Amino acid sequence: MEYSALRKMMVENQLIARGIKDQRVLQAMLKVPRHLFVREEDLYRAYDDMALPIGEGQTISQPYMVAKMTELLELKGDEKVLEIGTGSGYQAAILAELAREVFTIERIASLAEEAESRLRQLGYDNVYVFVRDGTLGLPEHAPFDRIIITAGAPEVPEPLKKQLADNGIIVAPVGSRYSQQLVKIEKLKEEFRQSYHTLCLFVPLIGEYGWND
Ligand code: SAH
Repeated sequence: MEYSALRKMMVENQLIARGIKDQRVLQAMLKVPRHLFVREEDLYRAYDDMALPIGEGQTISQPYMVAKMTELLELKGDEKVLEIGTGSGYQAAILAELAREVFTIERIASLAEEAESRLRQLGYDNVYVFVRDGTLGLPEHAPFDRIIITAGAPEVPEPLKKQLADNGIIVAPVGSRYSQQLVKIEKLKEEFRQSYHTLCLFVPLIGEYGWND
């Protein structure tokens, strides 16, 4: 079957069927070639309902989780977004379709390099990849309208809250090392409003404001 047909099935059976409604998110998930973000040996299951290994003990997230987190970010098109945990670059590509600029941080240099060259090849020129501890954010580029953490965190790192713009939104999986829940934090004037969403399982966020290596 053609990859575009597999993508259409993924969007219908995994995303729309489970309640993803944001049309822009669904369009982006229909468009971005997920199979170009997985290893060759996983091509046959690139559009399956699961996370897949990308090397270095890390994973590309399940399509539903990518769509759910992106929907929670409420992107309209003009945002400056920070992602922690570049991994394969797939989530960054989805964000690049839906926002103005994407700054993405990865702690493992080899993954960052692969992701960056993939994104370049696909023509995403509004994504900037950084190699460092993402729990510290990118103070030199702050503030960000949206921040997404794609690794499991014990709590949302304080530096990231500080780098969030007014009326900004952070989405992150927060919990123990082995199970988390998506948390959405909205910054309203000087107050943070928090809501809880889907249960999930991500690889750990490792760093100064995350877990120990
Ligand atoms: N968003 C990715 C999936 C990420 S898996 C995708 O679409 O493919 C989580 C990634 O977070 C891993 O690559 C891991 O190395 C990275 N990571 C973990 N802790 C980090 C930190 N403190 N800073 C930056 N990246 C981190």
